[in-house]
Amino acid sequence: MDFEQARKDFDAWRASYPADLYSADPALRLLNRLGLASDTARLDALERDATAFGREIVSVVGPAAQRYEHRDHLPELQRYDADGRAVEAVHFDPSYHDAGRAIWASGIVAHSGTPGRAFEQATLLYLLSTEGEAGHTCPATCTIGLARALRRRGSDAVRDRFLPPLLERDYDAVERGSQFLTEVQGGSDVGANASVAEPLGDGRYRITGEKWFCSVADADQFLLTARAIGGVAGTKGLGCFVMPREVDGHPNGFRIRRLKDKLGTRGLASGEIDLDGAIAWPIGPVEEGFKTAVSIVLNTSRWATALGSTGIMRRAYLEASAYARARTAFGNPISHFP
Ligand SMILES: Cc1cc2nc3c(=O)[nH]c(=O)nc-3n(C[C@H](O)[C@H](O)[C@H](O)COP(=O)(O)OP(=O)(O)OC[C@H]3O[C@@H](n4cnc5c(N)ncnc54)[C@H](O)[C@@H]3O)c2cc1C
Repeated sequence: MDFEQARKDFDAWRASYPADLYSADPALRLLNRLGLASDTARLDALERDATAFGREIVSVVGPAAQRYEHRDHLPELQRYDADGRAVEAVHFDPSYHDAGRAIWASGIVAHSGTPGRAFEQATLLYLLSTEGEAGHTCPATCTIGLARALRRRGSDAVRDRFLPPLLERDYDAVERGSQFLTEVQGGSDVGANASVAEPLGDGRYRITGEKWFCSVADADQFLLTARAIGGVAGTKGLGCFVMPREVDGHPNGFRIRRLKDKLGTRGLASGEIDLDGAIAWPIGPVEEGFKTAVSIVLNTSRWATALGSTGIMRRAYLEASAYARARTAFGNPISHFP
């Protein structure tokens, strides 16, 4: 085979990738049609949005992710502004935000404002995961988990203050969430958390401690676990809190030590964070914080992780099967070999 033909075959592999990931996925479409058979208006809206998003994943998010996941364009910690004021910010390659605008506009998080939108969110999360990395899937999932916790467990005042900005579709206006449970002494064993929450007497708490694996370190709202002073040991004594990133325009009693140098999900910023009297509001009764964190927030993450895994497998299948058809070796497409 000549060199030009080899290049054409290679290009044919690339060109065979679907332009619209939703239409190219009969199993997903069948699931939605079965699940929403009794509500055709909702099914039509879902299919319209999923088709548009399936195209954007290929035309906008994929190319952006190729750039922002590359080792030369990873997020960087920016602890001070140009005038030396502490900002505890993270700087991203602009491509990260280009992808974020397309993703948030899909309604992937905004659906959290309407109970019962699991089919829509599951479809969008799965399609987003075919990008192959979790640079935005993780922040979207964390924000969905926080929104659900606020909606189901927050007092009226806490919900009214923190929930609406999470539900924006406009990426440049939205507030994004994160979830900080893990500490050096306990990831699986969250009951070993040593961070403490001191009541201020007006419904707010001051949080002090060290969180060890904080993905979406650039989030606007942090959901976190901490033990109310005097609370019992183990999971029963843990409260679940929401902490705004800023108070009066300044970082809210926290400091990002450094960003993790990870093997995967490199496009998103995961940090180690020290909390020193950060102001936070409880989500639901403080003594039921662990229940809120696990039954709502972590269960949301588990659900999204399962969806994300299937999306990544789908991507691997699409790439591998097309490659096996396009690549020839010993005179035959390699798909013809055992
Ligand atoms: C990319 C990435 C992003 C992350 N982002 C966040 C985040 O945003 N927020 C956050 O809070 N955390 C985050 N984490 C931390 C993550 O939640 C913890 O790594 C996880 O909970 C496991 O805890 P650990 O690493 O301390 O492992 P350990 O709990 O020390 O576990 C070590 C090993 O022991 C096993 N083990 C533990 N308990 C048992 C048991 N009872 N029975 C049998 N085996 C057991 C585990 O399966 C594991 O193999 C992130 C981690 C990664 C890798």
